[in-house]
Amino acid sequence: MINTVQLLILAVALFVVFLLTRLYKQSRKVAESDIPDAKTIKRVLAADVAFYEKLDASEQSRFEERVVYFLQHIRITPVQGAAVKPADRVFVAAAGVIPMFRFQHWFYNNLDEVLIYPDTFSKDFELKGEHRNVAGMVGDGFMHRTMILSLQYLRAGFLQQTKGNTAIHEFVHLVDKSDGAVDGIPEELFSASCSKAWVSLMHEYIKEIRENEIKDINPYGATNPQEFFAVASEYFFQEPELLEANHPDLYRMLDLAFQHNTPSK
Ligand SMILES: [Zn+2]
Repeated sequence: MINTVQLLILAVALFVVFLLTRLYKQSRKVAESDIPDAKTIKRVLAADVAFYEKLDASEQSRFEERVVYFLQHIRITPVQGAAVKPADRVFVAAAGVIPMFRFQHWFYNNLDEVLIYPDTFSKDFELKGEHRNVAGMVGDGFMHRTMILSLQYLRAGFLQQTKGNTAIHEFVHLVDKSDGAVDGIPEELFSASCSKAWVSLMHEYIKEIRENEIKDINPYGATNPQEFFAVASEYFFQEPELLEANHPDLYRMLDLAFQHNTPSK
C-alpha cells in the first residue's frame, strides 16, 4: 500500500523531473554557427521572398531584424540527413515572421524547434512507406513545441511562388494555437463580433469548396476550419492581389486579422 508520505515523495520527484526537463530544453540555445550572416539573410530575402520584396526600405530592415531574432531563438535542426543550407534557415524564419509581421512584439512562445526532414514523411515521422504524404506539421503530445517541415516543400513555397507555402501554413497553425485552441479562429486577431463573422464565412467557403464551386483554393482547406484558415492564409500572403480579385470578402477578413495594410502596432 502506498501511504501519503510516499505519494508526496513521488509528486515532488515528478515535479523535479519536470523542472529539470524544462531547464535542459531552455539551456539548448541556438549555436552561433547555425545563424546565417546578415549579408546572406538580406540576399536570400531580396532574391526569393516576395513578401519582403514588396516592403519599403525601413520595413525591410525591420523584417531582417525579426528574422535574426527568430534565428537566435528557435532551433532549426536537420534530421534524416536533410541537407539544410543557410538559405533554408532564412526561409524558415521568413515564413515565421510573415504572418505576424504587423505585430511588432509578437513571438512564437509555443515553439522551441523546427525539424527539417529531407522530403515528405508519414504522420509517424517515417520517411518510407505508403502514407508518406505529410509536408509539414505542428507537433502534439511528446512533439509539443516542435514543428516539422519537409525541405522540398519549404523551398518550393518560396522558389515557386504559387498560392501554396507549407511553412507559412504551419506557422499560421501556431498563430491559431496561441489562444489555446487550434480551431481556425485566431482569437487574438479578431474581436468577438469579427470572430462570429469569420466562422460563418469559413463555413460558407468550406461548403463551396466541397461542392466544387470554388476551384482556386486548395481543396485541403475544406478539411475543417483550422485547415481552411491555414490554406486561405497561404493564399493571402503568397498571392494577395489574386485573392483580393477572386474573393474580396475573404481577403478583407484576413487583411483585418493580420493588419496587412495598416501601419505596425
Ligand atoms: Zn494544416
